[in-house]
Amino acid sequence: MSNCAVVGINWGDEGKGRMVDLLTENYDIVVRYQGGGNAGHTVINEKGKFALHLLPSGILRDGVVNVLGNGVALDPQNLLEEIRQVEEKGIKITPDNLKISDRASLLMPWHRDLDELEERRLADKKFGSTKQGIAPFYSDKYQKKTVLAGEINYPEEMKQHLLDLAEWKNLTLTRVYESKEYTEAMLDEWVNQYCAKIRPFICDTGKFLKKAQMSGKSIMFEAQLGSLRDLDYGIHPFTTSSNTSAAYAPIGSGFPGAKINDVIGVVKAYSTCVGEGPFVSEMFGEEADRLREEGGEYGAKTGRPRRVGALDIVATKYGVEVQAATAIALTKLDVLSYMEKIPVCSHYITNGVKTEDFPFPTALKDSVPVIEYFEGWKCDISKVTKWEDLPKQARDYVEYIEKAIDCPIKYVSVGPERESIIIR
Ligand code: GDP
Repeated sequence: MSNCAVVGINWGDEGKGRMVDLLTENYDIVVRYQGGGNAGHTVINEKGKFALHLLPSGILRDGVVNVLGNGVALDPQNLLEEIRQVEEKGIKITPDNLKISDRASLLMPWHRDLDELEERRLADKKFGSTKQGIAPFYSDKYQKKTVLAGEINYPEEMKQHLLDLAEWKNLTLTRVYESKEYTEAMLDEWVNQYCAKIRPFICDTGKFLKKAQMSGKSIMFEAQLGSLRDLDYGIHPFTTSSNTSAAYAPIGSGFPGAKINDVIGVVKAYSTCVGEGPFVSEMFGEEADRLREEGGEYGAKTGRPRRVGALDIVATKYGVEVQAATAIALTKLDVLSYMEKIPVCSHYITNGVKTEDFPFPTALKDSVPVIEYFEGWKCDISKVTKWEDLPKQARDYVEYIEKAIDCPIKYVSVGPERESIIIR
């Protein structure tokens, strides 16, 4: 069977969770391969409304096996809380439908502390971190100063490893930030309270995926955030600390040899960006407030109002290239139904030169948007399920985007529910 990746093309919050929930019907396994619990995927289906953070969105489908790969930031404490919340709504989570890579590094409580302390030190120069410890976690991972989930199966060695790490980490906590130290008792408590409880889920996910693939099973790779937050290709330094691109999926899953046949890039029908960083097509004032309200653009994890703007074609085209997307899912088209005229950012003027190319991050602050307008359709499209039944103005808008970003738009989403979808 063929594999696919569902990835974000822009700044994140494009509706990936909603698309994974829809498409898992055709897949046996869903793998999260990067990021942590610092963002949220909102999914609405017959089982209820869910805000998933680290759990793969396939957890809501019976029969789908979900994997947290070695590329994720695995925070045992937050994961257990998320499992509790999802189970409260009647979903059963067992080692049969959730598997955690033994090679996933564990996000420690001190990573969250350091995130908070550093944002405080930066004060008005802060990056808008969600303070979930993601950047300190990935820095430590690259320094090889993390413990792996599989070490939970070796308690004596893990204890010594943690004590060694604490000795090093306490220097930064106390001397740089004048904060509290971690003691042996605190580490013991963390291990007993959280690590012991995730132990049954830990296994060699690479072996599991390889075997599943050989027996004909199909795998979906689910990303967090979007192209513009990719550590290497995004709007540095306002990126996340991992690779959000589909190319990283095999590495972060535990199955580096995995082939990805389809890359479904999720794009919102307008642009949003949460947190700090350049956002060329940003809208302000009443126009922005109205779009934010109509689209319910508030962070799933933090409740922060998202910055909103016209669909940024320049950033989207770049995002499509970064992801090597083979098809697009355009979401939230219904949200634009109130607009008389729909603004689109077709080009940038960067340092006085009109361009379709996404600039080097430093030049983004010297870019202004070229805005063009499309006729609005001014009617409710949220019940439309066939392409021909969309108003002509809506079809024109979708066809313009498709041409401009040079990638077929296969799915058009007109509502948050599983069935509010037009498949072309
Ligand atoms: P993700 O992180 O990419 O999964 O995106 P989020 O869950 O953060 O944000 C997407 C939001 O839009 C969620 O609240 C979804 O329920 C909602 N949503 C997704 N698709 C549509 C759509 O086509 N129309 C509307 N009105 N809402 C949608």
